[in-house]
Amino acid sequence: MARVYNFSAGPAVLPEEVLREAAEEMLDYKGTGMSVMEMSHRSKAYDTIIKEAEADLRTLLKIPDNYKVLFLQGGASLVFASVPMNLMKNRKAGYILTGQWAKKAFAEARIYGEAVELASSADKTFSYIPDCSDLPITDDMDYVYICENNTIYGTKFHTLPDTKGKILVSDASSCFLSEPMDISRYGMVYAGVQKNVGPSGTQVVIIREDLITDDVLPGTPTMMKYKIHADNESLYNTPPCYGIYICGKVFKWLLKNGGLEAMKETNEKKAGILYDFLDESELFQGTVRKEDRSLMNVPFVTGNEEMDAEFIKAAAAAGFVNLKGHRSVGGMRASIYNAMPVEGVEKLVAFMKEFEREHGR
Ligand SMILES: *Cc1c(COP(=O)(O)O)cnc(C)c1O
Repeated sequence: MARVYNFSAGPAVLPEEVLREAAEEMLDYKGTGMSVMEMSHRSKAYDTIIKEAEADLRTLLKIPDNYKVLFLQGGASLVFASVPMNLMKNRKAGYILTGQWAKKAFAEARIYGEAVELASSADKTFSYIPDCSDLPITDDMDYVYICENNTIYGTKFHTLPDTKGKILVSDASSCFLSEPMDISRYGMVYAGVQKNVGPSGTQVVIIREDLITDDVLPGTPTMMKYKIHADNESLYNTPPCYGIYICGKVFKWLLKNGGLEAMKETNEKKAGILYDFLDESELFQGTVRKEDRSLMNVPFVTGNEEMDAEFIKAAAAAGFVNLKGHRSVGGMRASIYNAMPVEGVEKLVAFMKEFEREHGR
C-alpha cells in the first residue's frame, strides 16, 4: 500500500488513523453486524454517532448554547441559496467578493433579493482581502456575507469585517476547524466538510437560535428550512449518515490531538515552512499579499507556464500529488489541511529546492 502526499483542495486528505478505523468498522460496526452505511438513521447506534459528533464539535469550537448545529446535505453550494431563503427578510444583504465562491453565493442571492457588493478584490485577481473597516452597509440589510478562507486564491480574513451591527454569515468551508473561531461573533457559520473534515456531500451549519424562524421566503422548499432541521435535530429525513460518521471520527481525532489550539500551532508551522521558502526562492513565488495569506491553501507560480507544468508532473512522479492550481488561476496550489503532516510539507519544500537547483536558479 502506498499513500501519497495529497495536496488536493477538496475532497482532500483525511487523517490516516480515521480511515483505518473506518475500514476496521466497515463490516461490523461495534457488534451491530452491519456497516454504518447499512444502518437505520433512527437506530440506537446511529443516534449515539450523531449526538457524539455534535457534542464533540461543540467542545472543539466552544459553541455557545444559543447556537444550533445542523448536519445537512447538498454541499456548500446549496447553502448559497438557503442563506437568503432563511435570512433575507428584507430581501437585501451585503456581500464581500473575495473570489469565486463568494461570487457564486452573491449570484445565488440575487435570485432572491437585492445582493449588494460591499467590497471586492477582483481588481487584483482576488490576491488580497479588501479593507472592511468601513463598508457601505445600510440599515435595511439583513446580513453581511463573507467567504472566510478563499480556497482557490489562498487568502483569508484574519480580521472579521465591521458589519455595523448586522449579522455576519461566513462560508468557512476551507478553514473550518483549522484554528479556534469565536462563534459568538457570527450569526451563522457553515462549511462543506470535504475540505478539512470529511467526505463531500455533508455540510455543517452553526446558526444562532433566534435566526431560525418560520419566517422564510415564500416558496422555500421544506428541505431548505433551517427550522425543520433544527426542530428535528438534523433527522427530519435521512441525513448523510456515513459522512456524519466520518466527521465524528475526525472531531475525536482533533480532540485527541490537542483540539483547535494545537491545530493552529501545527498549521502555522506547516504554512510557515512553505511561505518562508517561497519568500526566499528565486524560482517560485507566492501569489497572495503577505498579510492575507491562508494557512490552508497556498498558491504559487514560477511565472512560466511550461515550467509550472513540468514541476507539477515531476512532483506527482515523486509522490506529491494534486498540486495543480485551480483552472481559473493556473500555477500551483498546495492545500495543507489538518491531516497533512508537517513532514509532508517539509518533504515538498525539499523537493522544490531540488527542482530549483536543477533548473539553474
Ligand atoms: C469547495 C468550496 C465550496 C463549494 O463546495 P461544494 O460542496 O462543492 O458545493 C464553497 N465554498 C468554499 C469556500 C469552498 O472551498
